[in-house]
Amino acid sequence: MMEDVGEVLIVGAGPVGVFSALALAQTGVKVTLIEAGAQIMDSPRNAVVMPSTILVFQELGILPEIEALAVPCTTLGLHVPGFRESFTLHYPEMFGWPIDRQLHVGQHLFTGIGLEHARRAGVDVRFGTALTGFSQTDDHVVAEVETANGREQLRAKWLIGADGGRSAVRNAMNVTFDGFTWSNRFVATNIYCDFASYGYGPANFICDPVYGGVIALLSKDGLWRVTYQEDAALPAETFLERLPERFDHILPKAAAYTIDTASPYALNQRAASSLREGRVLLAGDAAHVTNPNGGMGLTGGIWDAMILSDVLGAVARGEESEVILDAYSRERLRIFWEIASASAVENKKMQERSDPAERQADLEGFRALATDPELSKATFAYPFRLIGDTLRETSRWRTIDPTGGAIIGSSHSQLSTGQR
Ligand SMILES: Cc1cc2nc3c(=O)[nH]c(=O)nc-3n(C[C@H](O)[C@H](O)[C@H](O)COP(=O)(O)OP(=O)(O)OC[C@H]3O[C@@H](n4cnc5c(N)ncnc54)[C@H](O)[C@@H]3O)c2cc1C
Repeated sequence: MMEDVGEVLIVGAGPVGVFSALALAQTGVKVTLIEAGAQIMDSPRNAVVMPSTILVFQELGILPEIEALAVPCTTLGLHVPGFRESFTLHYPEMFGWPIDRQLHVGQHLFTGIGLEHARRAGVDVRFGTALTGFSQTDDHVVAEVETANGREQLRAKWLIGADGGRSAVRNAMNVTFDGFTWSNRFVATNIYCDFASYGYGPANFICDPVYGGVIALLSKDGLWRVTYQEDAALPAETFLERLPERFDHILPKAAAYTIDTASPYALNQRAASSLREGRVLLAGDAAHVTNPNGGMGLTGGIWDAMILSDVLGAVARGEESEVILDAYSRERLRIFWEIASASAVENKKMQERSDPAERQADLEGFRALATDPELSKATFAYPFRLIGDTLRETSRWRTIDPTGGAIIGSSHSQLSTGQR
C-alpha cells in the first residue's frame, strides 16, 4: 500500500526528529514523524540542556514546561582528586548571556513535551513504524516501512533521517561514516545518592586517568547521573559486575547509593561524508556522533534540526532553491568537525590525562578559569558556537531575540570567536 504523507517524512522520534517536526509544523509544513519504538526511548541518555538549546526551547514556545521539570544549574565543579584540588565556575560569569544557566532534565522528558506540541501543531506521529529502506525520484521519496500491519510505502517530498547513530536512512544512502571509535566506552548510570551533602554542586567534571567522569544532578527528587569510562575490550554485558569497584573510587567514601538505571555505550567521533542525497537529509546522531564530554552531541544535533527545518521549510514553500540544502550539509559538517568533535575530544583527553606535567598544566588552566571571567567567557562560548551560520537572511534564527535587545543569528562571526 502506498500512502502520501505530506511534504516531509521524518524518521526517528528522538529529540532531533521531534524538534525538527515541531519547528517545521510551526511554519505550516505538513509533517509525518515515524518511530520504530512503541514510545519515546527512555534509557539514560543526555541530561544537560545547554544554554543555546534553551534558546531553541524558548523560540519554540516550550521552555516554561521544560523548566517546570528541570533542575536549574548555574555552577560547574572541576575536581582533580589526585591533586586534592577542586574549583567552582559560575555560569552567569562564564556565559555572560541573559541565558546564564543549564537545565538538567532527562532527554526523554523534554522530547516528550516537544512531541505533544508537535502533535498539537498538526504533526502525524506514528510509533511502531520502522524504516527499512527508501527510493527517490526528482520530485518525491518513497520510504519502505514495517508496521504491526506489515510492510507499507510512505511517499513524501522530502525525508529527514533523524534515526540515531545506527541510522537506517544513512546506511541506505551512498555515504561513508568517517572517523574513529575510542578504545574505551562510557557507562551512564542514574543513581540516588546524597552528593549534595558531600559538597557537590549540580554539575561536576572529575579529572582522573582511571576514575574520571561526570557527576550531575538530574531531578528534584535527588536522582544523579554518574558517568565513568571503562576499557571497551571488556565485555559490555558484564559491566554491572565491575560497577561497585568503580563507584568505590568515584563516589564519596561510605556514601550509600541505589542504582535506578545504567547502560554502557560505545564512544565514537564520526560523521557522514554528506548530509544530503537528493531529497534525503540527515540530522543529529544519524549525521554525526561524538563522545558526550561537554554535551556537544545533542546540542549540535538540536541546531542541525533548527537550521534544517528553517531551510527545508523555505524550500518547501518555494522561497529558496534546493541548493541551500547543500549549504546545510557543508555548514553542519564544518560545525561538527571544527567545534563539536574537536572540543569533545579535548574535553575527553583532559578528563583522563595521566602525564603529571600535563595534569599540572590543566590545573593551572582551571585556576585561571576560576579567577578570570573574561577567559571563562571566551572558553565557555562553545554552546553558542554550535549554532553556526543560519544560512538565510530571513531565517527564524536570525531574528531570535533572547535579551529583548540582541539579535544572535546574524552575528555568526562574533559567536564563532566567542564574543558578544
Ligand atoms: C547511554 C547514552 C548516554 C548518553 N549520554 C549523553 C550525555 O550525557 N550527554 C550528551 O550530550 N549526549 C549523551 N548521549 C548522546 C545523546 O543521547 C544523543 O546525542 C541524542 O540522543 C541524539 O538524538 P537523536 O534524536 O539524533 O537520536 P536518538 O535519540 O538516537 O533518536 C533516534 C530515534 O530513531 C528511532 N529509530 C532508529 N531507527 C529507526 C528506524 N529504522 N525507523 C524509525 N525509527 C528509528 C530510535 O528508536 C530513536 O527513537 C548519550 C547517548 C547514550 C546512548
